[in-house]
Amino acid sequence: MSEYPSLHMLIDGEQVSGGSRRTHTVVNPATGEALGELPLADAADLDRALDAAARGFALWRDAPAQQRAAVLQGAARLMHERQEEIARIATLEQGKPLAESRIEVMMNVGLFNFYAGECQRLYGRSLVRPNGMRSTVVHEPVGVVAAFAPWNFPIGNPGRKLGAPIAAGCSVILKSAEEAPASALAVLQCLYDAGLPKEVAQAVFGVPDEVSRHLLGSPIVRKLSFTGSTVVGKHLARLATENMQRTTMELGGHGPVLVFDDAELQKTLDTVVGHKFRNAGQVCVSPTRFIVERGVFEAFRDGFAERARRIKVGSGLDAGTQMGPMANPRRPEAMDRLIKDAVARGAKLHCGGERIGNQGYFYAPSVLSEVPLDAAIMNEEPFGPVAIINRFEDEAAMIQEANRLPYGLAAYAWTGDAKRQQRLGRYLEAGMVGLNTTMIGGADSPFGGVKWSGHGSEDGPEGVLACMVTKAIHEG
Ligand code: NAD
Repeated sequence: MSEYPSLHMLIDGEQVSGGSRRTHTVVNPATGEALGELPLADAADLDRALDAAARGFALWRDAPAQQRAAVLQGAARLMHERQEEIARIATLEQGKPLAESRIEVMMNVGLFNFYAGECQRLYGRSLVRPNGMRSTVVHEPVGVVAAFAPWNFPIGNPGRKLGAPIAAGCSVILKSAEEAPASALAVLQCLYDAGLPKEVAQAVFGVPDEVSRHLLGSPIVRKLSFTGSTVVGKHLARLATENMQRTTMELGGHGPVLVFDDAELQKTLDTVVGHKFRNAGQVCVSPTRFIVERGVFEAFRDGFAERARRIKVGSGLDAGTQMGPMANPRRPEAMDRLIKDAVARGAKLHCGGERIGNQGYFYAPSVLSEVPLDAAIMNEEPFGPVAIINRFEDEAAMIQEANRLPYGLAAYAWTGDAKRQQRLGRYLEAGMVGLNTTMIGGADSPFGGVKWSGHGSEDGPEGVLACMVTKAIHEG
């Protein structure tokens, strides 16, 4: 396909591919057809990336903040100019509607511009000390960052993984998902073209477990940044203990949405249904468990299912498509397994519950209600286009259900009661809480979870500080 670029790794500024390297076939999830062959790193490639990153850190840690800012602003400008090209690549390899890919590019533009400002505001402090003594507290870049980004936001995830370390003065080795590599390469290319020294950022691909063991096994790497499932996150966190690398973990969620009798029903439905099926539900902050107060339960369930049935599913490249295919064959398999299990345990299926067509990985928007707690889907992140709608008696029971799981990424609630909003803001166990809104992010706002959803933040000032260490210097 001519629109899809040839694939390579970017190590020490060189496009690396071919030779005796293994390859991974990148597939268009809308058609199941091959898009390209991705070279996978061998041990020598990873050692070369480590060596370049070590040199890159020595160089970039001392680069003036204005230089880092200029690179980030330049890359933001180039991404904006290349918006259409990058968005099409992302839709080809990941499947989401083009409109969503375009927004993703613009989220990176906003984030890089924010970090360009933030890296010029990394202040320390001085301490009052007796007898002419001087003590200062400074933030220093942590060092080489190994960053692992998943396939669900093929532009935005690499943008986050690259932007923060570069703002902080670190170097970074990025392993983005092998399923959607060209988007990550396009983002890194914008940074190179904006003047980022080539040693400062590397893009490798490979067998994930081989790459993570190799990189985290090296004392050159000082920080691990991972976005993905909790099970893989726990595995990587264990690997990182060996060299005591710092960690930022953006892991899974099981987003509770509390809908109270006093919520504005139509407005709530219009907002949450679109949010549920964005990116075919393959979003860590996707609303999943709709915890609905009894007075509004039937109307909410019926209104939700009616809107879900109307969602236009198709190729992300087709105008008018509201939901694309799932990103890989594992996801429709997971949907089938989880929905069948729920129905077998007594849940009601109102729509969906099946694949669409016989090519690609399309799955119908699905709505379940009255799902028992022992169903797998009530406990496992579905990461797909399925909503669970259950009835509850009162606020206390609803908060208890919201906090029942070990996950704590995003939580949402709709209510007209201001006092209740305050209680929910306080008692919902989540890193991000949306009250009468699904807009829970932004370049200037920390993004991250609690409990099994991970620790540390990306975005906001917190995202840059997460790539820094604190040092106290005392001068007598
Ligand atoms: P997975 O757990 O196999 O992989 C998730 C991501 O981690 C992928 O990008 C993968 O390449 C990477 N990965 C896997 N093993 C790794 C290793 N040893 N070292 C480094 N990286 C590794 O699952 P999947 O089938 O790709 O995705 C399904 C599940 O992943 C979902 O159910 C969801 O919970 C989770 N997920 C979460 C996010 C998120 O934004 N938090 C994104 C994508 C996937």
